[in-house]
Amino acid sequence: MKYDVIVVGAGPAGAMAAKYAAQNGAKTLLIEEHASIGSPVQCTGLISTKALYECEVGEGIFVLSKIRGAFVYSPCGEEVCVRGKDIKAYVIDRKIFDRVLVENAVDKGVDVLLRTRFIGMDKGKISVISNGEKKEIEGNFIIGADGIQSSVGRAASLPRCEKFLSGIQFEAPYIPKDPEYVEIFTGNEIAPGFFGWAVPFSGMARIGLAKNPGLPARYHLEKLLKHPIVSSRYRGGRTEHVVGGIPLGPPRKTATDRVLLVGDAAGQVKPTSGGGVYMGAVCAKIAGEVAAKTSRGECGLVDYEKKWRRAVGRELDIGMQIHKSLGKLSDENLNEFVAFLNKPDIRELMTEYGDMDHPSVFMQKLIMSGNKMQLIKLFGVAVRTLF
Ligand SMILES: Cc1cc2nc3c(=O)[nH]c(=O)nc-3n(C[C@H](O)[C@H](O)[C@H](O)COP(=O)(O)OP(=O)(O)OC[C@H]3O[C@@H](n4cnc5c(N)ncnc54)[C@H](O)[C@@H]3O)c2cc1C
Repeated sequence: MKYDVIVVGAGPAGAMAAKYAAQNGAKTLLIEEHASIGSPVQCTGLISTKALYECEVGEGIFVLSKIRGAFVYSPCGEEVCVRGKDIKAYVIDRKIFDRVLVENAVDKGVDVLLRTRFIGMDKGKISVISNGEKKEIEGNFIIGADGIQSSVGRAASLPRCEKFLSGIQFEAPYIPKDPEYVEIFTGNEIAPGFFGWAVPFSGMARIGLAKNPGLPARYHLEKLLKHPIVSSRYRGGRTEHVVGGIPLGPPRKTATDRVLLVGDAAGQVKPTSGGGVYMGAVCAKIAGEVAAKTSRGECGLVDYEKKWRRAVGRELDIGMQIHKSLGKLSDENLNEFVAFLNKPDIRELMTEYGDMDHPSVFMQKLIMSGNKMQLIKLFGVAVRTLF
């Protein structure tokens, strides 16, 4: 077996990278350690309309519900409604979604090997355990789309992401305030450094949180379930448990001799929401194209680094600064911040410029809205250095 490009990991980033490598003329193999695509799921499945567009799929059978906005709750219980003018996001079934993306790659000529785990590489070939047997596969270029733990990144001695959040979630019957709105819960007891959520679909919700390292995530989950809003809407029972990490802050280097990383493996995740499907897809398309062209000598892997950072690097940098600033807020500061967001002119700004994939746009408008002093009071000097 000899390929121009081997993609390790058949998540959204791997499927998109493989598709783009194949459609740019490379003989491409996609390998996945599990026996089926998209399983186990480690995701809330909330993805923006833009993410579907980037993944080049329409509103497929994987869409479970449509989301227009969010209710954000401060630690003291104040509610701010972030109202979208139209549908902003979808709640999807990630199992089906990931399979659709892999089918689309196969349609472009990608070969797929399931139950095939990457274990190492050496000059133009990778070693795998495939259906229990050790094998070697020749490949000129390797794309590591193998998620947060990235064995490919480790084998290539590429640096790791700046930080990791831990996430926990389950599904349960839930009566939301409005089925077109997700609910976001802030506070250092519920989710230190990040937030908790209830994402509704079909009479159910995915209830969970992500948080900075510290106490176990399940400790905070119990606190979230005791939140007055959650406890009044949660109908009991727990299925589809998810425990997983979220990488934030891409490493300074994501490509090296014959190897490049994409998606969670490269920390291409929005630091403000923990969502990785959109950024992963944007970068995977660049990765697939660059790997295919490099295998024909038309460019070099260094072009990958330049191109993906040009596409989303600034958004990720600003997102990381916002994440760090928000993470430092005390519950009192968070109460103040939510009260500030609840001002009618700020709510209007959110409706106009709120974009879950590009929060820097709203942040910029916020700073220019004449509220800079209040923001500096809350966030300190970080606001001054954002733009
Ligand atoms: C609790 C939680 C909630 C989340 N919610 C959202 C959300 O609502 N929206 C959103 O956009 N993002 C969300 N995310 C993040 C999102 O799930 C990831 O960013 C996204 O799945 C990354 O895609 P990927 O293709 O890079 O990696 P993955 O989806 O992790 O895919 C990597 C693949 O590589 C395979 N693999 C790993 N190692 C090997 C190996 N050695 N050999 C072969 N195969 C291997 C894995 O089996 C897997 O299939 C959430 C994450 C968590 C933890």
